Amino acid sequence: MGFCISCGQQHQNGIRFCRFCGSQQPGEQLLARLRQEAEHINFLRLQAQALAQQQQQQYQQQLQQQQFNQNQYNQQRRW
Ligand SMILES: [Zn+2]
Repeated sequence: MGFCISCGQQHQNGIRFCRFCGSQQPGEQLLARLRQEAEHINFLRLQAQALAQQQQQQYQQQLQQQQFNQNQYNQQRRW
């Protein structure tokens, strides 16, 4: 089953025109390409998310390191 790209009604796979609104439907080749593109976009998005998480972690590690250095500095100054 597929969905009309124009009106969203469900219809059988492999038809060329929607029987509800008459819109031409994408062929299998186009669908395959769109699926590939969607997967690629998904992949890029996941990569970007992972990268953002990594950067966030690095930033927090840097912050912790800075706090640690600051604490040590403060401790040294007391003596
Ligand atoms: Zn339609």
